[in-house]
Amino acid sequence: MKLLPASVALLMAALLLLSHTALALPQVEYTVRPVFQPAPLLHVTLQTHTAGEPRITLHMPVWCPGDYSLQYFGRYVRNFTAFGSTGTQLPVIQPNAGTWQVVTNGAAAIVVRYEVTPEPPGNFSQNLQILPGMVFVNGPGALMWAEGLQSAQMLLHVDAPAGWHTVTTLQRQQGEKNTFTTCGYDALADAPLLLAQHTLEYAFTADGARYDLIFFHHLNSLRSPARWVPLFRRLVLAENTLMGGPASQRYHFLLDAGGGLGGLEHADSARLAYWQGMSVPDYAPFVAHELFHSWNVKRIRPAVLGPFHYQHPRPTRCLWFAEGITEYFARVAVRRAGLENSAAFRAHWRTKIKAWLANPARLRVSADEASLHVWQTAHSSGYQGVSYYDKGELIGLCLDLTLRHSTSGRATLATMMRLLKKLYSPPHAGYHLQDLCDAFNQTAGKNLTALFYRLCDTTDELPLKQCLRYAGLDRRLQPLPSATPLQQAVLKSWERSDVLTGRE
Ligand SMILES: [Zn+2]
Repeated sequence: MKLLPASVALLMAALLLLSHTALALPQVEYTVRPVFQPAPLLHVTLQTHTAGEPRITLHMPVWCPGDYSLQYFGRYVRNFTAFGSTGTQLPVIQPNAGTWQVVTNGAAAIVVRYEVTPEPPGNFSQNLQILPGMVFVNGPGALMWAEGLQSAQMLLHVDAPAGWHTVTTLQRQQGEKNTFTTCGYDALADAPLLLAQHTLEYAFTADGARYDLIFFHHLNSLRSPARWVPLFRRLVLAENTLMGGPASQRYHFLLDAGGGLGGLEHADSARLAYWQGMSVPDYAPFVAHELFHSWNVKRIRPAVLGPFHYQHPRPTRCLWFAEGITEYFARVAVRRAGLENSAAFRAHWRTKIKAWLANPARLRVSADEASLHVWQTAHSSGYQGVSYYDKGELIGLCLDLTLRHSTSGRATLATMMRLLKKLYSPPHAGYHLQDLCDAFNQTAGKNLTALFYRLCDTTDELPLKQCLRYAGLDRRLQPLPSATPLQQAVLKSWERSDVLTGRE
């Protein structure tokens, strides 16, 4: 391929920079530059040392963590070329649609250039949008990973149009305005990049951490967006209290005011669709869900969900925990934040239970199977009529009330989550299903293995009647007339709104 003169100059500058950089660690440098005319594209440059390897193999992921479906991002790559240290073009072999092998011919370093066309969204988030005034980049949709260099130091240079805002949770390189750094491809790919001509931003602190609300895309449609700031802060305080402190010191709510779809969690941020006119009862649980993921799934995660394999995603039996328990805590957090009253809290469970009991698939598919087989579907929510969100949320209800009952109120499901955080957050490896059972037993102070596996690994009816009885409620969430002091205490602690007291 023939390069344009300007491209040659950029390439030689990149090679010069690379050859003069003394690297203590292996390093992969990316440069991204959107173009809008004649057709929207993202130009990506990737450069790295070869360490004498005869070939450097690069892949575009086939999926994006959090979206459990195959998207094959390699299909959107165009004009892949590679060059050696002297600027000589190198041979490239493409064994499949998502893999490129650069034959290094003894070069000490390589520079790879490719373009990515705008991509369709996944189930929950945009992947690569290049629009007038706004570019959104979801890492796996644009950035290739290099075999053997997944743990290397990553540098990201952003070549945004003049005057635009650059938004990312990656750490800014000292002394550099548009260069960001992190360790490892997982962290790089998990930090969405937003470039926007205009944003509307608010910030607050809570428990020593900083939180940013960043509205983008169709800002003209926004009405009183600042009203959300104190509400988000209450949700943050509620979840921090449940989990024993912030998950990270800086967190971005990326609020897409024109994007639709749903929300996608990242370790230090979430991209959330924002709809004008959304009410607090509708929007608060959605925000709380994505925020709670910053613990549950981004840090406390199944063993196969971090480090990730981006070409061969491995199914897990635990999505009912990663998604359903997150859904459970989202509802708890909304109540604890004082954003709904106890009547609405009970009404939610009444509705969920009624809907669950009306679903005949509950007697055919377990939560475990719904998790494991989601890859055979296109919607990332379950399998053959059973949503792991729905069943997982009700399993959360059963686990929480059982723990409160078994320990006479001394422990809750949040206690178990904090134990899991201690045992399975990085740098520790992720958990397996039995590890969840062990943590449940340890929190309960007794062996409840049979109950645990009945809930997640069978199609037996959920013991909702029994578990609600622990809180002195019938299945319609009405108080039992004969509730004991323990039942009354469990109910009071379960459905209370007291985030500001700092108690669980
Ligand atoms: Zn989720």
